[in-house]
Amino acid sequence: MTPEVALLRVIHCLDRARESGFKTKAFARALDVVRSTDPAELERRVANDTLTDLDGIGSSTAQVIADAIEGRPSRYLADIEAKSQVEISDKARPYRDALRGDCHLHSTWSDGGAPIERMATTAMAIGHEYMVQTDHSARLTIAHGLNEERLNEQLDQIAAVNEAIADAGHEFRILSGMEVDILEDGSLDLSNEMLGRLDVVVASVHSKLRMEKQKMTERMLQAIASPHVDILGHCTGRMIGKRPPSDFDADYVFAACAQFNTAVEINCRPERLDPPRELLRLAVDYGCWFTIDSDAHATGQLEWQPLGCDRAADCDVPIDRILNTKPVDELLAWTRAAA
Ligand SMILES: [Zn+2]
Ligand SMILES: [Zn+2]
Repeated sequence: MTPEVALLRVIHCLDRARESGFKTKAFARALDVVRSTDPAELERRVANDTLTDLDGIGSSTAQVIADAIEGRPSRYLADIEAKSQVEISDKARPYRDALRGDCHLHSTWSDGGAPIERMATTAMAIGHEYMVQTDHSARLTIAHGLNEERLNEQLDQIAAVNEAIADAGHEFRILSGMEVDILEDGSLDLSNEMLGRLDVVVASVHSKLRMEKQKMTERMLQAIASPHVDILGHCTGRMIGKRPPSDFDADYVFAACAQFNTAVEINCRPERLDPPRELLRLAVDYGCWFTIDSDAHATGQLEWQPLGCDRAADCDVPIDRILNTKPVDELLAWTRAAA
């Protein structure tokens, strides 16, 4: 294991364990140092115990680097591997076992922490057959959202990465997509032409979350009815303990999701866990389709799906109504038929 691989693995574990940003930043900084330092110098510094003299290397990061260079198993890494496992309950297990992919995740193209290739490698390693690359649309400037030009570039990159994956003999596929903003008037933050080119479209509200109930309902209905929208992302926009759910008429919204074949996302991020249980049960009553998505912004967060599986079990979501239990061709047939 190279020092780079070891540090990346520690960061993965810290992310899946929801460790403080402070620790993750320390390892990310050490990773930058390792990448920009001549390997011969790193070896020399390990030999004379001067790694920590490098700006950005502390005692824990130095230990991980030294273990990798000297070919020893790292106790730090073994420890964090064990401690950071994402637990899965018995009731959630059948749901997690049924999942074949993840329909909502971010990369460094917008506000994610890892490039597409590493998100894909991780998704493969946890057993997925596909993932949908859904970076933010242009309006979300703080998240470095993609305009059409950048989205076009991303589509080229996805095609290239898919080719490399196939050449390496893997069955895995990256589907194209976007988490497109639902604008205040219910229109979408991307042209119909571009939306039509994407495999899977997640639409989410990220602005004016406190909009008056009827306006918010109309705004969401318009997006749900769009033939290009496949999935309604984190529908209430709540942040547990920080931001209340948006106010909308859930009967209208879920009835529309059922009618227009727009899946209701069960968002697995621990601070979101959206929709809340009572709304999720209502969506089940309306016969909606669902997805269980990590909304990962880092490789470790791809392992958060058990949290959503837990909710799905609590609310008796039928497994056969969960889109990402479908094989990739069936998923694509579904999104195309719905479009
Ligand atoms: Zn979002
Ligand atoms: Zn997202």
